[in-house]
Amino acid sequence: MQLSKRITAVHASATIAITARAKQMQAEGIDVVSFGAGEPDFDTPQFIKSAAINALDEGDTKYVPRAGRELVHAIVEKLARENALAYREEQVVVTFGGKHALYAACQALIDPGDKVLLPAPYWVSYPEQINLAGGEVVPLATEPENGFKITPRQILDGGAEAKILILNSPSNPTGITYTPEELADIAAAAIQRDLFVISDEIYEKLIYGETKFASLASLDERMMERTLTVNGLAKTFAMTGWRLGYAAGPAELIGAMKRLMSHETTNPVSFAQAGALAAYTDPSAGEAVEAMRVELEKRGRHMFERLSAIEGVQCVKPTGAFYCFPDVSAHYNRTLGGVEVTDSMSFAAAALEKVQVALVPGAPFGEDRCIRLSFATSMERIDKGLDRLETLLE
Ligand code: PMP
Ligand code: GLU
Repeated sequence: MQLSKRITAVHASATIAITARAKQMQAEGIDVVSFGAGEPDFDTPQFIKSAAINALDEGDTKYVPRAGRELVHAIVEKLARENALAYREEQVVVTFGGKHALYAACQALIDPGDKVLLPAPYWVSYPEQINLAGGEVVPLATEPENGFKITPRQILDGGAEAKILILNSPSNPTGITYTPEELADIAAAAIQRDLFVISDEIYEKLIYGETKFASLASLDERMMERTLTVNGLAKTFAMTGWRLGYAAGPAELIGAMKRLMSHETTNPVSFAQAGALAAYTDPSAGEAVEAMRVELEKRGRHMFERLSAIEGVQCVKPTGAFYCFPDVSAHYNRTLGGVEVTDSMSFAAAALEKVQVALVPGAPFGEDRCIRLSFATSMERIDKGLDRLETLLE
């Protein structure tokens, strides 16, 4: 047997791998503190679970035809109400998580050799999905000093031959959020370079301090025809295991993604869609999400303050999502707990093996100076993990 060249070039997701390793160690009785997974530690709100359980009890166990009309309708209303985006039902597709929406979009948009602008650091799955479609990643480098943000100039300079820009705000792994004004300038540059933009807005509700969220396509009416808005329920409603997301954009693109899905997956799980419908229609949803956001804000501030107090650790303050992405490279070329640390991979290995702290190395995000810590875990675990990290770095 010989695997395809295409799949041979794919790296397994580092975020998933670290999380799996931490869970395995926990199952073996080792007290690992996991800052690995980009996954809220909260349970899914009860009203969402009840809606799915009721759907199961009522026999909602068949293939969902025509992409679940009721949920699509609720998503159209949500996008109009909360995001100032006017989509029609044929402009929305429900997918198996935001990750699947992005994958289907890459398959539907990218031809071999097409160039895709990707702000770096980036979430680990974007380059792999671009490569799987035969596209070429054109990284747009950012620096912590500039808050890990790209400028319109970079789009104008890099965009002449590119077809697509992928934007993710609030961002994984950096935790930064573009202001509506910055997004409007990025939109103007994308229009000037005739780029299609995939706007991954999965962390839209998890924003902190004075931060304001805006949907990219709402900021310039010319963006509607050149933007795919991607979102999902995993982060907002603590529904990572439900695998539900969606994309909204030009009907032709959405139709193409549905054609792909008709052979690839069919429509997402029937009773999970019933839960998602409750998430977008139940009047108590806003309150439940806000309670989780407030808690995450406290944890994020605490983790940021503690990390910033460690010598040789420099962190950009997170304004969204649930990640700190500190530069720890001052500790490279040292021995930590007996492990020779030369880069983010060996740093993460030392943290896991020597003090049982799981964190994700920056290298697969395109920034080897940094490591990623998720603060979607309890205050007590955050303190325990950071105490251990401090001991390692002393
Ligand atoms: N986009 C970003 C930036 C993410 O961090 C994630 C994390 N899981 C996703 C998309 C996909 O989420 P899901 O497939 O669980 O909806
Ligand atoms: N997106 C989350 C993360 O970055 C979950 C894991 C994944 O899907 O990559 O940790």
